[in-house]
Amino acid sequence: MSFTSQHLLGIEPLRPEAITEILDLANAYVEQNRKAVRLDPSLAGLTQINMFFENSTRTQASFELAGKRLGAVVMNMAMQASSIKKGETLIDTALTLNAMHPDLLVVRHPQSGAVDLLAQKVNCAVLNAGDGRHEHPTQALLDALTIMRAKGRLHRLNIAICGDIVHSRVARSNLILLGKMENRVRLVGPATLMPPDVAELGVEVYHDMEEGLQDVDVVMMLRLQKERMDGGFIPSEREYYHRYGLDRAKLDFAKSDAIVMHPGPMNRGVEIDGEIADDINRSVIQEQVEMGVAVRMAAMHLLARNMKNQRGVMV
Ligand code: ASP
Repeated sequence: MSFTSQHLLGIEPLRPEAITEILDLANAYVEQNRKAVRLDPSLAGLTQINMFFENSTRTQASFELAGKRLGAVVMNMAMQASSIKKGETLIDTALTLNAMHPDLLVVRHPQSGAVDLLAQKVNCAVLNAGDGRHEHPTQALLDALTIMRAKGRLHRLNIAICGDIVHSRVARSNLILLGKMENRVRLVGPATLMPPDVAELGVEVYHDMEEGLQDVDVVMMLRLQKERMDGGFIPSEREYYHRYGLDRAKLDFAKSDAIVMHPGPMNRGVEIDGEIADDINRSVIQEQVEMGVAVRMAAMHLLARNMKNQRGVMV
């Protein structure tokens, strides 16, 4: 037992062994999910509430399916139309839900740190489904599983994370996870889309795709996060695509067997060419979605185990 946490709030506090435990179980779930009959009642009798304060299609669906496949009762709160709009604070909402005795709370919030705060106020397991620019731990775990299965290992790989780094919780969680597993990570993108503390991150930084993609094993593209931009971060989308959009010519600088990833949703023709995104010989974007369900099943299974162990000790 290496993953002993009560919550999954980020990759930062996890030890490499804990990451490996989650990925190993997720890997088993991939095989189970491909079978016609999938009976695993490890969340039977438990209640999972999904609270998404920010729009999401795939992450919410993925968490819902993961919970249902493991036998949990799953409820989706329509947070856009909730009492938040009527002035209720995040904490009040959390306390209200807490009184309903959920076992797992899956939360996405536009503010960095909001999910950590909420976790301190409730007495169930909390999973961070993305908080502002901070972390998106299940995304980094599903990316890691995708890489591990495609490349046969998750260490000593050259990985380029490209595009809108500064606004991306996906980049942050991936950077931390891939670093912990001893890979060489590079960031590629315009200076305006790099975090101010980039020099302290211990990674190589490139502003040119041709140089940045040279000999990499993995090309991870990021969505341009227009909803988090309130100024002129890029001259125009056309110019951005020309310099940083992944097309065949730029991909040719990577290793000939390099895989292409994108967390979705994609802006085709902005950060990635549609033809590359759909190229089944290079793109693993659909695999990422498949791994997402398996990783969320594994994370919730292990959190439920930790919770039962803790409750067992307390009784
Ligand atoms: N779906 C990912 C996230 O929620 C990536 C993105 O939206 O660009 O962060």
